[in-house]
Amino acid sequence: MTAQKNLVVTMQAVNKWFGKHHVLRDVSLGLASGERIVLCGPSGSGKSTLIRCINGLEGFQEGTLTVCGTTLNGTQERLAEVRRHTGMVFQNFNLFPHLSIMDNLTLGAIYARGEPEDAATERAKALLERVQLTSQTWKYPGQLSGGQRQRVAIARALMLEPEVMLFDEPTSALDPEMVHEVLDVMEELAQSGQSMIVVTHEMGFARRVSDLVVFMDQGEIVEAAPPDTFFSAPATDRARGFLGQIS
Ligand code: ADP
Ligand code: MG
Repeated sequence: MTAQKNLVVTMQAVNKWFGKHHVLRDVSLGLASGERIVLCGPSGSGKSTLIRCINGLEGFQEGTLTVCGTTLNGTQERLAEVRRHTGMVFQNFNLFPHLSIMDNLTLGAIYARGEPEDAATERAKALLERVQLTSQTWKYPGQLSGGQRQRVAIARALMLEPEVMLFDEPTSALDPEMVHEVLDVMEELAQSGQSMIVVTHEMGFARRVSDLVVFMDQGEIVEAAPPDTFFSAPATDRARGFLGQIS
């Protein structure tokens, strides 16, 4: 992390407990503008908690977190500001089942941002074309495949023009044959310069797309290295063990 970089996310010595359970231990991390970080590690290591802190879905007890110039101290203050800068895509899509795909995309823009419906509709059309779902515009989520729903979820997050996109295992609930249509969309997004943090076990994606692989275990960042280094020469037994298990 160098001082010259324009950092969109900075975490400094963040500590978080659920009751007595220490789930984030002195986590420090910087995401520069346009940078892609892949976050990996065993189940329960704190990956979801970390990215949920970044968009204010979780608070924390110690440390500081700055997202696009807004500093959070773990309390409820200024959460709305942070959420405006971040887009989040979850494992389970979280689309509104009773709304058409178009309305899923435009609802937030119209009601949260006060954008005129025409303008929101135009932007939604362009995004649905970008994720290759124009033909599904007037369908409902239940009529789409898992891969299509996840591409809708990505397009919906992009409607709010987030400076940072956060993905929490976006392909782990998908049938194997649909994984790659979602990864392709994410890869295109990365190539367009979108800053992003992706929790994933798709190590091929990590190699192709990430600038930095961050490996967590038991609430701490154990290693952070460019993918070439991380995959060819992991520095710790914990990372070697993890890579041995998932490959
Ligand atoms: P990961 O995403 O790496 O699998 P999580 O961030 O979901 O890990 O969880 C980290 C730890 O925090 C786990 O031990 C998990 O059981 C615990 N945890 C997560 N969410 C909660 C919660 N809401 N209440 C209590 N413990 C939680
Ligand atoms: Mg998780």
